[in-house]
Amino acid sequence: MTESIEAATVLQGCLSKMAVEAGDPARYVLRAGEARIDLNACLGKPFRLEWTGAIACTHCGRATRKSFAQGHCYPCFKRLAQCDTCIMKPELCHFFEGTCREPDWAERHCFQPHVVYLANASGLKVGITRASQMPTRWLDQGAVQALPILEVDTRQQSGFVEVLFKEQVSDRTNWRAMLKGTTERLDLATERDRLMARLESGLDNLRERFGADAIRCLDEAPLSFNYPVLAFPTKVVSHNLDKNPSVAGTLLGIKGQYLILDSGVINLRKFTGYEVKVAA
Ligand SMILES: [Zn+2]
Repeated sequence: MTESIEAATVLQGCLSKMAVEAGDPARYVLRAGEARIDLNACLGKPFRLEWTGAIACTHCGRATRKSFAQGHCYPCFKRLAQCDTCIMKPELCHFFEGTCREPDWAERHCFQPHVVYLANASGLKVGITRASQMPTRWLDQGAVQALPILEVDTRQQSGFVEVLFKEQVSDRTNWRAMLKGTTERLDLATERDRLMARLESGLDNLRERFGADAIRCLDEAPLSFNYPVLAFPTKVVSHNLDKNPSVAGTLLGIKGQYLILDSGVINLRKFTGYEVKVAA
């Protein structure tokens, strides 16, 4: 045991979300401060991650006792537009009331083309993303399939379209089911056509409100994704650094923003900003 730990690389830094690139399988890089670890190369090997107890805000770098909205200190959480409720619920956008926390940021992020998509991580779901975030968004969710279906001009419009689709389809992923790897493949093009037919009048109403060209149908081919996983857990147990700062086991896979170890799974994104030591 001592031998494998001595031979291992030990790195220290504050966690960022893993970098991921589509591929067969997807390629993951763990990012902790300046350190980078090619996680695909660590599959099947001992892996250890330990929280030092420190958390640094990913925006301002200040030390914080608690992390808000995936890695922010409390002042940044209250001040930044990216931490406002309207980011999770874009239909609540309040830019035109003059109360946007950061209008310049909104111009760059919210007033940009957004895509409404169907994805399958644990069953059919609808979601929205900035066009520039594809396909990272789907890989971060652990989706095995995705299909962009509509393009709109702003984040707020994508929110209204999503609210409409939520009458027919979930916007959530069941992460336990996603991690079991038993998700059945769907015919997303058929699902799209079915939903579009059902929601036609709702979409027409939105076009009346935002303009005939505001909500554009996309005719794209469905995408599929594979993940580097040697074995999926049958029972999903999760590690939580807040309760136990030390996580160790054999790395069996990576899916979404989760590491799958033989000792349990961990959602690394949840611990963004946590300072960790990693031996892999
Ligand atoms: Zn901060």
